[in-house]
Amino acid sequence: MKDQVRALERLLDVTRELTATVDLGPLLTKIVAVAAELTESEGASILLLDKQTGELRFRAAHGSSASSLADIPVPVEGSIAGTVLNSGNPVVVSDPRKDPRHYEQVGEQIDMDIRSLAAVPMHFKDQNIGVLEAVNKQEGVFTEQDIDMLLTLGSQAAVAVENARLVEELRQAYARLGELDRLKSDFIAIASHELRTPLGLILGYATLLRDQVGEAASHQMDVVVRAALRVKHIIETMLNLRYLETGELTLVCVPFDLCAEIRSACNAYRTLVESQGLTLSLHLPPHPLQICADRDKVRTILDNLLSNAVKFTPQGGHIWVLASGQQHTVKVTIADDGIGIPPEALGRIFERFEQVEHHMTRRHGGMGLGLSIVRGLVELHGGRIWAESEPEKGSHFTFILPIKPPIPAEETSKEE
Ligand code: ADP
Repeated sequence: MKDQVRALERLLDVTRELTATVDLGPLLTKIVAVAAELTESEGASILLLDKQTGELRFRAAHGSSASSLADIPVPVEGSIAGTVLNSGNPVVVSDPRKDPRHYEQVGEQIDMDIRSLAAVPMHFKDQNIGVLEAVNKQEGVFTEQDIDMLLTLGSQAAVAVENARLVEELRQAYARLGELDRLKSDFIAIASHELRTPLGLILGYATLLRDQVGEAASHQMDVVVRAALRVKHIIETMLNLRYLETGELTLVCVPFDLCAEIRSACNAYRTLVESQGLTLSLHLPPHPLQICADRDKVRTILDNLLSNAVKFTPQGGHIWVLASGQQHTVKVTIADDGIGIPPEALGRIFERFEQVEHHMTRRHGGMGLGLSIVRGLVELHGGRIWAESEPEKGSHFTFILPIKPPIPAEETSKEE
């Protein structure tokens, strides 16, 4: 009875450690120590199958010769451990020296006389991933109880090994993702910088030529300039995103009237709004909404939200822009009664490259970067943005900005 309680206590110990650690080495060392203790053996060891070489290798050992076992390969064919691994059944051998399956080289290399041995498979899901062995029972022969104990410890060791393998796979996957992200970011930076110079030349000369050729080809030159401006906008969007991601984007804050900026942004969209048969209404307070913020970036936020409202609202639709001020914040809503966003997509639209329509079947242009930049810029100001929408009914995008910019961390510490 006392022995059973002790055994249970040890097994519980191992289980507790198994759930608390992802550090495989110490856990396996503990498992072999407990295996030797509970089966009253001179030593115990764990051999794991190396899938690349097809051999078994000692991964943890307990007993006087533990350290010399490290890295001794054991063939699967022609060893007791290999037999257990292949068959999935425990094996007890009272005198391994007389057993033809016994792989003598291990005993010889570590200079240990192996008189009795019990080996059980380490089973995980439908695979045997290794073998747990106990050697030289101090008194008598290995019992069924010993085998049960080893089987339980073997399963725990298998779970620990698999956990560690999964953690390692996850770590490698993260590292690969990080590398891909870095490559993508570098690509954006290089491509954008390389495109900027020739594009500057195209825009410069196209504008010059448009002025020189006069009426004759002014329409064609207009098309060239507009297309070049569009490419410029795409490059700026990609660079903005990169600077946001790398934390290189800083705020240049100036005091200005937010209502004036909203009016100016809306005016720039008037022609497009009218040409698409849309109505744009402004609901602004009668007094200025004075804020201190990065004016260009606030304009980028407004432009992106307005451009989306125009893009995703069919002919005859409405767009509303509302602004109001509180004691320390301003709130702006850009709403439309356009196509709306399905609930399952609403949570993702602020992510990079997220678009509700599939890019191959999309009817609307864009790169799916606008909203992620908008969110980045709002957050850079210490504000927040959210969207509410219903398919076929329309969308509301609302952002709140503090009327004063956040104090950067280094300046906060200076103030303290
Ligand atoms: P883009 O407009 O370039 O595709 P955004 O990041 O600005 O990228 O927007 C992401 C996606 O969110 C859009 O592709 C669209 O599916 C959805 N979306 C944004 N604004 C609206 C809106 N006002 N109405 C409906 N859908 C919208």
